[in-house]
Amino acid sequence: MFEKFFEIIEKKLQQLKDQQLYRSIIDMETAEGMKITIKGRSYINFASNDYLGLSKHPLVKKSAQKAIELFGAGSGAARLLSGGTLIHKELEKLICKFKDSEASLVLNSGYTANSCLIPAIADEDDLILSDELNHASIIDGCRLSRAKKLIYRHKDLQHLIRLIKDTPCNGKKIIITDTVFSMDGDIAPIREIYELCKSEEALLYIDDAHGTGILGEGHGTLKHFGLSADNFVIQMGTLSKAVGCFGAFVCGTDILINWFINSARGFIFSTALPSSVVASSYASLKIIMEDKTLIKKLWENTQRVMNTIKTLKLSTTDTQTPIIPILFENIEDAMRASNILNNSGIYAPVIKPPTVRTPRIRISISAGHTEEDIERLNKALINLYQQPHQA
Ligand SMILES: *Cc1c(COP(=O)(O)O)cnc(C)c1O
Repeated sequence: MFEKFFEIIEKKLQQLKDQQLYRSIIDMETAEGMKITIKGRSYINFASNDYLGLSKHPLVKKSAQKAIELFGAGSGAARLLSGGTLIHKELEKLICKFKDSEASLVLNSGYTANSCLIPAIADEDDLILSDELNHASIIDGCRLSRAKKLIYRHKDLQHLIRLIKDTPCNGKKIIITDTVFSMDGDIAPIREIYELCKSEEALLYIDDAHGTGILGEGHGTLKHFGLSADNFVIQMGTLSKAVGCFGAFVCGTDILINWFINSARGFIFSTALPSSVVASSYASLKIIMEDKTLIKKLWENTQRVMNTIKTLKLSTTDTQTPIIPILFENIEDAMRASNILNNSGIYAPVIKPPTVRTPRIRISISAGHTEEDIERLNKALINLYQQPHQA
């Protein structure tokens, strides 16, 4: 049975292998700080979004342990049944304070958030304008919404303005953008887009996955630009990156959040996050709000690597964040470079099409990296530069 189907997918997998686009899972055997071991070899991890090293913070770990003792390992049900706890509510209160918003809701992941929140705010009559480099979960959310979707060129305000002004629409207009683009590390022109939404009476939906904990003294991209969480702004963010835990959240007005509770399918029909995960996020957010040394360290580490990238004139994007891509003309060159870095104990894998257009090694810097770790990366980059394979 199904011979044909298996034959087809086997052939497709072979094609991916032939094009060097085949993906496979790599799991770690140990992880101590940013030091990891994979297949018995040790590396410094430059492939993690744990930008502040908070996943390993003693207080963050302790909070999860305490919550497990109180509520057990799993939550047992969706939030609307019996899956929620006091800790979920407390985290949402803290997120409101953190993001200066009226209300917030915790969701199970960033992917879940985008794929269920966008369909909850947009339908057939509406028009979504979406940056061409937006995260895959936004693209899927837009598809599920059945709204008309127009893609504007990456961060191209003129293009966005033309599309929003020239496209007739009976319903709402919604602009959706990543704040920090996950594969390029550049920042969307949020101030201009914010003003455009105001003047065009459009909703603004921002995905602050890589801005939260990093920009605006940790509070995220709105704070970075000095903008207020006005009622036309919907802020989504994750607890899985700089917060170092797992899950996501959305912030908005009371009415909006109540609407999500009553209509977002990925919220209603999925088991709530375990209280341990929620409690660790709570502890982590508290640290981000109260202790600015980690953020300072993150930017110092980033600056030290960027200096090397600039000195060596390695090809990169116009990154403004701890996401540092090194671009290559083809996958082979990127793979070769990644192997050279691997041999120096640096773990920074290649990101390939179709995830990105230009193959790259994506280096992410963390406050969890020690001075020696950064030094080791810089030396490995210098060594890489001496090989003639870079774009
Ligand atoms: C990582 C990421 C997500 C998905 O978040 P998860 O919590 O990993 O599911 C969504 N949007 C952007 C921009 C991301 O970088």
